[in-house]
Amino acid sequence: MSELSEHADRPVRLLGFWGSPENQKLPNPAHLVDPEWDGAERMRVADYLVHGQVAGEWMGSSRCRLCSRSNGSRDLTDGYYLWPEGLAHYVLEHGVRMPAEFTDHIEQRREALDGLDRDVAWWRENACRT
Ligand SMILES: [Zn+2]
Repeated sequence: MSELSEHADRPVRLLGFWGSPENQKLPNPAHLVDPEWDGAERMRVADYLVHGQVAGEWMGSSRCRLCSRSNGSRDLTDGYYLWPEGLAHYVLEHGVRMPAEFTDHIEQRREALDGLDRDVAWWRENACRT
């Protein structure tokens, strides 16, 4: 079964949403800080998170739970996962570690994009009308 057809069978997974005094069923980012997390992998994960597509926009921005800075008002997605746009800040600035399943997903997506077959015929046929 292809990755796409598996994806069609399930909703997008949420990532990077935090608990509050009212909702303690979600994690506290302070508990996920890993100062030993490899810097290069952190950069790759943050870069991926920054480049999601906008999936929604909220009134007013959220605040970082760890440093209180204003931290974005949109949700981003890659079609598989959906996260608040400020998640990259948690990863990059605070070392809030993402689950291995997600970092593996990022590597698989990068490899899949690197390995795409490229076909310029459509572009030539549709854009070169002279
Ligand atoms: Zn912060």
